[in-house]
Amino acid sequence: MNIVIFGPPGAGKGTQSKFIVDKYNLYQLSTGDLLRKEIKDKTELGSEISNIINSGELVSDNIVGNLIEKFVSNKNYKHNIIFDGYPRSLIQAENLDSILKKYNQKIDIVLKLSVSLETVKKRILERKIKESRADDNEDIAIKRYKTYEKSSEPVINYYRQSNLLRVINGEAGISEINTEISGLIEGIKG
Ligand code: AMP
Repeated sequence: MNIVIFGPPGAGKGTQSKFIVDKYNLYQLSTGDLLRKEIKDKTELGSEISNIINSGELVSDNIVGNLIEKFVSNKNYKHNIIFDGYPRSLIQAENLDSILKKYNQKIDIVLKLSVSLETVKKRILERKIKESRADDNEDIAIKRYKTYEKSSEPVINYYRQSNLLRVINGEAGISEINTEISGLIEGIKG
């Protein structure tokens, strides 16, 4: 089973992905985590992208596409991936489909966590204290939310058309969301 988890920054994608990974033995592919690792390891790519990430903009589709393909092509992860933070644009959604097709895979469900800007601001400030991410401050949080609003609509429509989209109230408590997600996943497992 391949799952896409989708939503604005601070929606709880990472938290819910970890829960799904543990419960269903999947591998989490977080493009944000992979990109932050490049910065931390001071790679060439890391220095190229750090300003973009810290300004709340999106990294190029090409860069993230390459990261994704490396993961999808790895036989150990075959049809066992949760995509966290990817795709974030229509081009990325189309790209993901063609990469998956190339490796004989598909997406089984898209979970969209909906949360308001107010909640995003609150959660990001809380996370800053715990994780000290450079892009977790109020101004950048607002910028990241706006970036999401601008690019997410076509992605949502894309998955709605293919009947894969399930919308979840991301304002609910963590365990309530866990339960809702489990129900949806059990539903597709049949
Ligand atoms: P995240 O950890 O998912 O909130 O991502 C943090 C930052 O990494 C984003 O604000 C973007 O700058 C960058 N990023 C993560 N995933 C993507 C993606 N799929 N496409 C472009 N940029 C991304």
